[in-house]
Amino acid sequence: MTHSIGSETRPLRVAIVGAGPAGFFAADALLKQADLHVSIDILNRFPTPYGLVRDGVAPDHQKIKAVTRSFDRVAGDDRVRYFGNVTFGEDVTRADLQAHYDQIVYAVGAPSDRSMGIPGEDLDGSLPATAFVGWYNGHPDYRDLDPDLSCERVVVVGNGNVAVDVTRILVRPLEELAATDLADHALEALRGSRVREVVVLGRRGPAQAAFTTPELRELGELEGVDVVVDPSDVELDETSEASLEDNATARRNVDRLREYAERGPGTEERRIVLRFLRSPVEVLGEGHVTGVRIERNELVQRDDGSMRPQGTGETEDVSCGMILRSVGYRCVPLADVPFDENRSVLANDGGRITDGAGGPVVPGEYVVGWAKRGPSGVIGTNKSDAVDTVNRMVEDVSSLNGNATPDWHPDAGDALIRARVKRVVTWEDWQALDALERSRGEASGRPRVKCCTVEEMLEALS
Ligand code: NAP
Repeated sequence: MTHSIGSETRPLRVAIVGAGPAGFFAADALLKQADLHVSIDILNRFPTPYGLVRDGVAPDHQKIKAVTRSFDRVAGDDRVRYFGNVTFGEDVTRADLQAHYDQIVYAVGAPSDRSMGIPGEDLDGSLPATAFVGWYNGHPDYRDLDPDLSCERVVVVGNGNVAVDVTRILVRPLEELAATDLADHALEALRGSRVREVVVLGRRGPAQAAFTTPELRELGELEGVDVVVDPSDVELDETSEASLEDNATARRNVDRLREYAERGPGTEERRIVLRFLRSPVEVLGEGHVTGVRIERNELVQRDDGSMRPQGTGETEDVSCGMILRSVGYRCVPLADVPFDENRSVLANDGGRITDGAGGPVVPGEYVVGWAKRGPSGVIGTNKSDAVDTVNRMVEDVSSLNGNATPDWHPDAGDALIRARVKRVVTWEDWQALDALERSRGEASGRPRVKCCTVEEMLEALS
């Protein structure tokens, strides 16, 4: 007897690789399909779920993390299983998943960082902001980053919200950070920090900054911290000024920056200096960073109307002991899965994996989130993005051939993973670890005290 895929007797078997927001939003959208019976296995490299909500969202922005409650509801659904501590490409391969699931969704995000492509970038003390974020958030990959905070000035390159996050963490009063779930090792290092000034460089002007106004406003509200803006930096060229009319965020950002410029230099112990139209051209130092050479830019309008930075040749050296490049996350190739080098995403057409950029669609394989469209947008952006991909998955169900999934049986995926991974972390395990982390935080009024290595997590579970 044959049963159509997606029916009660033959549910659609889906593997989602990655338990960050994109993966959970995809699972949620699948569960919400009326008339489709699904069975979803979520595989995750770390024992802990939630991706950048745990490892990226700033520890002093706890409210944003409330989104995990909706992810918990998804994980608690009977049709969903969680397999933590399972690495795609090592423990299980693309071919394994193809044999055991009707559809695969890659939700692996953008785990690496973009480089600036300038000399000196690899000196000690020159770090990607993404690594620094991972370090203070207790991401196991960055546990041992050990940034040197013995300098007085740090330069942050970039004008996005990550640049704002790292800047704030570097100057925020320690007692405030100590009330968050910032990783203990980072708290200890920040306790001994000598950083007094963070210089943030935007290569374009205030009207083109990528950060959002609440984040910018928060900088100006930090206790014991001045925000310094040179008044000449907020005098806009005509085109930039005109662009504010149809861009409410830019308008609000510029207003806020003008207000900072009016405040003057200030007298607080710590300061944030926001500079615009400045690009780093060389990281200076021998062995370790001692400064950065920056060039003044002017804006040139392109045919598409965008304003791009162009160097004027006028340079200046800014001394500093650390430079954090906050110029974007970067998606990297995933074992055996086609990659689009030009767009730096998994090769896809509207979420359907293709055999190389612009190639034919690979049946049964999909991508969501940053791995699909690149590292942009807020957490919620991944929801509509996931719905879009899931709509295509549903459209494709009728063309699926059950015989193409030889081991689709409900227990087969589970057996495969358990045969390969010594310690699979289940959702119940994660809940136990979560409770443990929370209880460790309770005594000191913190949301949790994080386990920051996989060994520590597994040990806590044993
Ligand atoms: P982003 O918003 O794309 O910002 C990247 C910044 O780097 C831009 O200012 C960009 O300038 C600059 N840049 C790129 N290449 C450069 C170079 N070679 N030299 C100098 N500057 C360069 O990226 P992000 O800050 O990493 O954030 C990633 C996403 O997460 C964003 O969508 C962000 O909003 C989101 N996020 C949100 C929050 C929040 O809501 N609180 C917090 C963190 C992150 P150009 O504009 O000139 O290219």
